[in-house]
Amino acid sequence: MAKPILVLNCGSSSIKYQLIDPDEETVLAKGLVERIGDAGNGIVTHETDGQEWTITPQLHNHTVALQAVFKMFDDHGPGLKNVTAVAHRAVHGGDRFAAPVVIDDEVIATMQELVPLAPLHNPAVIEGIRAAQSLLGNVPHVAIFDTAFFTQLPEEAYTYAINRDLAKRNAIRKYGFHGTSHQYVSQQVPAVVGTDLGELNQIVCHLGNGASISAIKGGKPIDTSMGLTPLAGLVMGTRSGDIDPGVFAYAARSEGWSTERIDSELNKNSGMLGLTGDTDMRDVEAAFEKGDEAAVTGMNVYIHRLVFYIGGYAALLGRLDTLTFTAGVGENSSFVRKMVCDRLVGLGVVLDEAKNEARDKAPHLISAPESKVKVLVVRTNEELAMAKQTEHLLAS
Ligand code: AMP
Repeated sequence: MAKPILVLNCGSSSIKYQLIDPDEETVLAKGLVERIGDAGNGIVTHETDGQEWTITPQLHNHTVALQAVFKMFDDHGPGLKNVTAVAHRAVHGGDRFAAPVVIDDEVIATMQELVPLAPLHNPAVIEGIRAAQSLLGNVPHVAIFDTAFFTQLPEEAYTYAINRDLAKRNAIRKYGFHGTSHQYVSQQVPAVVGTDLGELNQIVCHLGNGASISAIKGGKPIDTSMGLTPLAGLVMGTRSGDIDPGVFAYAARSEGWSTERIDSELNKNSGMLGLTGDTDMRDVEAAFEKGDEAAVTGMNVYIHRLVFYIGGYAALLGRLDTLTFTAGVGENSSFVRKMVCDRLVGLGVVLDEAKNEARDKAPHLISAPESKVKVLVVRTNEELAMAKQTEHLLAS
């Protein structure tokens, strides 16, 4: 009999959920709750068995929102009585959570202490945990942290060159994010290339609306592009990625902006949106093809930054065996993959153009046989990875 796990991803105004059978690797139901806390109505969309239902109740908070989700399961199935555990996606675990944990009062108290590191994300997750525990109190609840995989980073990679006491007092260091995805994707690569994980020097490019890149040696991360927060590194949909930190003080003086205003500008109004007016890479590509000046500049900045990181990580790894693309842009944009690979001839990368254009859901190679670096496309599946990690934790 299936032993499904309910995977929850609570954001400040949304909840994504999937009911997963981790052994069969199947999704039994999934859905999305939007506009939690809005004065108007929220939206709950539930999918199972190829059918979709939508309701628009008022959703004052996460408890009411989860009650609406449970009603969808009651009304349309599948039943939740066989659920063996609930897995909660938790964004920031600081340096306190290196692996998934069964949630108890102490875990919640530690997550509360970490709220200053993720003021937008962690409170929503804690509220979601409390609401889910009150609705499904008879099964274990597990927290899986986006930062956990990168707690293994070496000191020289996670340390910022700022005053040591200041850094220590405030826990300022690189944490890295998208860890579940980087770990899951890097673990799919050995089967495709026929080399053990322990022998492989990998780079994984997680290019979605948020984007990050990691260097992984023998299964362990040695660097990643996101930092104390998910703002650092690559150019993203709306986030700037790396900028001169001096821009912050300069913008405060020249625009008279508050800290919150600058933070919001860099997180929500920068990246591809700031450069081109579009967040979606499909729109940027279409504008690029038409020769739109802002789109051409924006795309060139995006690719330049990515190639810069790949080159740096190849040097840190000493030898690069595999380069893997994942997430919305990485999985779907043959255009971006080609622009990147064409700039990596110096590393011995040779793209197979036909394979790059082919659409294949399974993990696959897109490099030519003579390529020194094997280039892959691997679909990420953070929910499945979370369900599997939860099953593994509870079995141990
Ligand atoms: P994610 O955050 O991983 O869900 O990725 C979402 C992003 O993937 C979207 O905002 C798009 O920019 C991008 N994307 C999805 N499909 C395509 C496609 N066919 N070509 C280019 N970009 C795409």
